[in-house]
Amino acid sequence: MPRASKGRTRRLLLWCAATDRSFEPAVQAGRSVLCGKCIHCGARHVLEEDGTPRTRATVEHIVPRHHGGRDDLDNLAIACARCNFGKGHRLDARRWDDPTLQRVIATLQARRRERMRPPLPGLDLPPPPDADASDDE
Ligand SMILES: [Zn+2]
Repeated sequence: MPRASKGRTRRLLLWCAATDRSFEPAVQAGRSVLCGKCIHCGARHVLEEDGTPRTRATVEHIVPRHHGGRDDLDNLAIACARCNFGKGHRLDARRWDDPTLQRVIATLQARRRERMRPPLPGLDLPPPPDADASDDE
């Protein structure tokens, strides 16, 4: 994976955590981290303050990218690599009007909305992801 895109993932993860009320600041091994939950299964995830994941956290696109889902904060959430991959595999390839796909998207959107908060103060946040969504591959 090229460096720039890795930095981008870190930035998206950090923004997701900053705006997700399941993520709270904590100290782990003497370092400030953010601890929160997978949008699918609720498993615990830990990010460093620059967004580097200490767990297998990935950026979930609630509306899949190939169905036009954007890098907007309300379309992004943190998910286990396994949960994200599972959804991608089972669901994202379905037609847009597939009822199962629609149900999962609606559930995740509601959950993300419930967890949405203004960015956590005290973080050194980079520019928000949607400011330059055009640099996405
Ligand atoms: Zn999960």
